[in-house]
Amino acid sequence: MKLDFSLLKTLTELAGISGREAPVRQFLQKQLAPYADEIRTDKLGNLIVYKKGTSDKNLLLCAHMDEVGLMVRYIDERGFLYVVPVGGLDPRTLLAQRVRVQTKNGPILGVIGTKPVHITTEADRAKAVPMSDLYIDTGLPAEKVREQVAPGDSIVLDREYEEFGENRICAKALDDRAGVFVLAELVRCVKKPFYNIYAVFTVQEEVGLRGAKVAAYGVDADLGFALDTTGAVDVPGVSPANHIVSVGKGVGISVIDGYTITPKWLFEELKQICEREKISWQARVAPRGGNDAGAIHQDKTGVPACALSIPTRNIHACVEVEDKNDITAMFQLVLYVIEKGLTGPQGE
Ligand SMILES: [Zn+2]
Repeated sequence: MKLDFSLLKTLTELAGISGREAPVRQFLQKQLAPYADEIRTDKLGNLIVYKKGTSDKNLLLCAHMDEVGLMVRYIDERGFLYVVPVGGLDPRTLLAQRVRVQTKNGPILGVIGTKPVHITTEADRAKAVPMSDLYIDTGLPAEKVREQVAPGDSIVLDREYEEFGENRICAKALDDRAGVFVLAELVRCVKKPFYNIYAVFTVQEEVGLRGAKVAAYGVDADLGFALDTTGAVDVPGVSPANHIVSVGKGVGISVIDGYTITPKWLFEELKQICEREKISWQARVAPRGGNDAGAIHQDKTGVPACALSIPTRNIHACVEVEDKNDITAMFQLVLYVIEKGLTGPQGE
């Protein structure tokens, strides 16, 4: 089964910060309707795609549509825009970057300004610029800015999808359009699922797993997975003990993070499938962080859940880096689970 990575390119180029996911949702709705037994959107904006299985067990698969970004906070007298972050953004990664402000008349280009080296001291350059001091230059006169832009308008990072090196991708919003891509491809490819599949493209993960919480409530899941990305810090300056996961070494199967501890039987069974089916994988033992699995496993009386993660360098910056083989490994593992089903806990 070959994944169509042109779909991932399209997905990363859509604008969808938390709470403003409509462009992503509308795109997916159109793409996936032909493959769904039922497709609907809930009141928070989650897109739920249902495919009937051969058993009576329900499987919840979540991938979040939202990306980190900004919102307009204030427009000054000269037309410069000031912002608030939406999700975890490091202002150091935003300086001198291009953005697209989503106005009522469509997106406009903006540039996040930075003081040039010519007028800064070494001490200035050693300091991080706080988010509150960042400003966006739209190139428009102040009165035109006020006509088009309003406080609350969303702002997305602006960067093209590129493939580079060996099997690598660099783009904005790979977190979590890569997971969305895998889930969309699963919906398209799965012919005869064992489980009743609830493929949920969630909203507002980056601001606290808000979409997954209500989505899980609406589905009586027997088992749940979050298909997401995770920070890979396998880079210079970080000791191997702190790498957590490495790019190119396979899908990350979560053991623990800041929100979820995977049931032992579930971790072991996924590991055995990967070994048997020759799917590259690595254990994700993360001291912090979380994803939709954190909301899924606490639903109602509890749902066994696991986060599957694509290792991502420079996560939450506009140059996120992933390996196509890791994405494919996630697809293969989940496809196997969907088609064959899991044995479940053996007396645990
Ligand atoms: Zn994510």
